[in-house]
Amino acid sequence: MDYEDQLTRALEESPEIVREESRFEVPSAEVRKEGNTTIVENFQAVVKRLNRPESHLLKFLQAELGTSAHIDESGRARLTGGFRQARIADAVDDYTNGFVMCPECGLPDTQLTTEQGVNVIDCDACGAISPVRE
Ligand SMILES: [Zn+2]
Repeated sequence: MDYEDQLTRALEESPEIVREESRFEVPSAEVRKEGNTTIVENFQAVVKRLNRPESHLLKFLQAELGTSAHIDESGRARLTGGFRQARIADAVDDYTNGFVMCPECGLPDTQLTTEQGVNVIDCDACGAISPVRE
């Protein structure tokens, strides 16, 4: 075996460089029912991960779930009505895909901003500016 073979072999055998986990992990909504109210216990953790204003996500949840909601003194979201965890989690997913992930490169390193009166996702990773649906 000559040197080049050895080198090739060494490279092949070296453990693959572990790429940083590319999937964007958003905390799963922790949901609790209290009477006719559904409480998202970890609303602040979700908002923080998404790096979006809490009022913006809350507004989205209200529209998606067709209900009224507010944020209580502990920072939890309180939605009027009974909703299953999966329903809330789906809505958070939709929000993430619609308002956080860059449609061009699929990374979450974005800002929500306004460009000539249109809400856009401004991507820090690839520089793309993409309009968002409202
Ligand atoms: Zn991008």
